[in-house]
Amino acid sequence: MKIIVLNDSSLPDPTGNVEKRCAATPATTTRLCKKGISVYVESNAGLLSGYSNKEYEETGASIIDDVNDMLPEADIVVAVNKPTEEQLALLKKGAIVVGHLDPFFEQPLIESIAQKGLTGISVEMIPRSSRAQKMDALSSQASLAGYVMVMQAASLLPSILPMMMTPSGTIKPAKVFIIGAGVAGLQAIATAKRLGASVLAYDTRPVVAEQVESLGGKFLHIDIGETGQTKDGYAKALTEEQKAIQQEAQRDAIASSDIVITTAQLFGRKPPVLIQKDTLALMKPGSVVVDMAAQSGGNVEGSVAGEVANVNGVTVVGTGNWSQSVARAATDMYANNVYNLVDEFYDAESSAFGLDLEDDILSGCVITHDGAITSDMLTNAYKGA
Ligand code: NAD
Repeated sequence: MKIIVLNDSSLPDPTGNVEKRCAATPATTTRLCKKGISVYVESNAGLLSGYSNKEYEETGASIIDDVNDMLPEADIVVAVNKPTEEQLALLKKGAIVVGHLDPFFEQPLIESIAQKGLTGISVEMIPRSSRAQKMDALSSQASLAGYVMVMQAASLLPSILPMMMTPSGTIKPAKVFIIGAGVAGLQAIATAKRLGASVLAYDTRPVVAEQVESLGGKFLHIDIGETGQTKDGYAKALTEEQKAIQQEAQRDAIASSDIVITTAQLFGRKPPVLIQKDTLALMKPGSVVVDMAAQSGGNVEGSVAGEVANVNGVTVVGTGNWSQSVARAATDMYANNVYNLVDEFYDAESSAFGLDLEDDILSGCVITHDGAITSDMLTNAYKGA
């Protein structure tokens, strides 16, 4: 079996971002090669996450300068994001493409992958099950994002997070309010607590209150009626009335916070707007708001994708690409996710990826196969259902 690791930093991104992460590390290529898999790494694929061509070569992988020469032979192509149309056109029928294929927002690309007879594995669609945890790239990257957002906010705040009692006076701990306590939010709570802040959090799924409290945060209880979650544990969209109750109930918490971090997402849909400009105006000048969702529509009115904006004296951070600012850690985790996926389904006897479409994990994340889009969730989304 031949695996090609793409150099994502050379792939175009419409926002101009240069991807710093890589889908393999020398640690994962070592393990792949030991299984007898031939691994080809596109030149400089790991450079921006701190891994040189030489380090990959020493593990038994081959470095390729022109990836197009090798693509027709690939059984599996692994990327952080998505290969280009030109690269896909070079692949043989039945080849497997693994990456953040962003399927809900990339319908033409997914249709093209299907039409070419390629098997597309979207890491975003890996189920949230115990067995799949080790392959869960959304979680690995969201955890790092939670950490990074707190660090960025702390560095922009014109104050400190911990309480400091000195002969020159006492500084009270900073107040941090985290909206959305999923994977990223919980890591943000843990990070802010470690830095000594006083942390409050809110989520529409009341089941997370206990998790927030176990990390030392306080949970803001807002009665917005029935909210629930999907069978995969994702939040459901709120009604207009529920949104209004939430926004009203959060106002005081936001107004008195030094840092607000919003991490609310709705899987496969535009994120909800959680903070409007009039609420932002209640915050002290110099306060910091981090909008994790700025690039996909925004939780905060006034946030600008890819930028740090000043909205009436409040610093609103929408830089995005959070895990890329800790590219080595992000690469280490993502490469492990990809390795674990390959390892789980690799059949050494036939030296092939065992594509059992009835398998719990593969039935979720294989989104195209044998000329068709195989995910009902996606076909429904494309139909607007
Ligand atoms: P996500 O990124 O989809 O959303 C982040 C958080 O925002 C969620 O907690 C969601 O409830 C919350 N949210 C949505 N709308 C909101 C609003 N209007 N106001 C406040 N909060 C709002 O979620 P995620 O981090 O991917 O996690 C989703 C769920 O999956 C969680 O329950 C998580 O624990 C679970 N999970 C399970 C596994 C596993 O079992 N292997 C792995 C990862 C995550």
